[in-house]
Amino acid sequence: MASKRDYYEILGLERDASSDEIKKAYRKLALKHHPDKNQGNGEAEEKFKEINEAYSVLCDDEKRAAYDRFGHEGLGAFASGTGGGGFGFGDIFGEFFGDIFSQSGKKNRRRKGEDLRYGVRIQFEESISGVSKQIKFNRYEICSSCDGTGAKKGTKKITCSVCRGTGEIRQQQGFFSISRTCYKCNGEGEIIEHPCPACKGEGRVIKERKLDIKIPAGIEDGNRLKVSGEGSSGFFGGPNGDLYVDISVETHSIFKRDGSDIFVSIPISFSQAALGCELEVPTVDGKSVIKILSGTQSGTQLTLKGKGAPRINGGPKGNEYISVIVETPTNLTSKQKKLFEELAAENKEESHPLKKSFMDKIKSFI
Ligand SMILES: [Zn+2]
Ligand SMILES: [Zn+2]
Repeated sequence: MASKRDYYEILGLERDASSDEIKKAYRKLALKHHPDKNQGNGEAEEKFKEINEAYSVLCDDEKRAAYDRFGHEGLGAFASGTGGGGFGFGDIFGEFFGDIFSQSGKKNRRRKGEDLRYGVRIQFEESISGVSKQIKFNRYEICSSCDGTGAKKGTKKITCSVCRGTGEIRQQQGFFSISRTCYKCNGEGEIIEHPCPACKGEGRVIKERKLDIKIPAGIEDGNRLKVSGEGSSGFFGGPNGDLYVDISVETHSIFKRDGSDIFVSIPISFSQAALGCELEVPTVDGKSVIKILSGTQSGTQLTLKGKGAPRINGGPKGNEYISVIVETPTNLTSKQKKLFEELAAENKEESHPLKKSFMDKIKSFI
């Protein structure tokens, strides 16, 4: 395969072109090289394909970023830009040319089905362990009565007699050849004489779809899963659309998550902080025991390596970070008060090095 040309070069753009500039350049070139205007011209057809491929990448922020960083290789993760599959060529075509070209020429009824979106809310724990959810949604499916043709069972579509299947009527006026959409078949070239009663000639009907979605361990709030081909059926033999599942994860009362790391704040008492202790702490995997050293200060952060959340791509787990909060006791009993007073009388400077150094600084300051 010949090496591919640079997409910016194809569209005659600078690398920092705005999305408006990209659209404009594409529109201009696509109009010039459109097959409808260059019938039988193989070179124009190749050019048109090339222009579309370049545009399909540059108009998509994600793909453009990947292309900017890694070139053509960077697009491996995306569906091919030229085929009708991953990228909705029909979308661009419809957006820019619907107004211009739908005036003439046979309509391409064979189109990709609609993409669908579905929101799924899961528990925090489920986001850690992964979970399977059954979802139900409505989508268009191929009409089984007519196998998607739109024509009543036992009948066939017939070629339009007015345009002889071309979908357009050409008229010569001096130098100009003017073409109009065929009034009889609406530009489709074929006529359904006896529409299928089940789908009214549309070839598709709305059906409920049940689907088990496997949500991988480590999924995060706001992630989106793509389930290829589970959108609506294509029109008249076109490929299916895709289903996008938007995941939202409920917040947890103890754990906070950032990427694959988990954060927990754990209160301990004055005496635990002063004397040290062993502490049972929650992790997303269950319990762990950590050692609190004597003389631990409030705000100390401890790390449990590998006790964070899993990663969707199977990389190493994150960490759990524990913030220790030393809780000053409140609602003292008279006995506790007395003991604190005794403790205060017993206080030595060496037990509070921070306080001592601060007081020393203040003295020299005054
Ligand atoms: Zn016709
Ligand atoms: Zn039907």
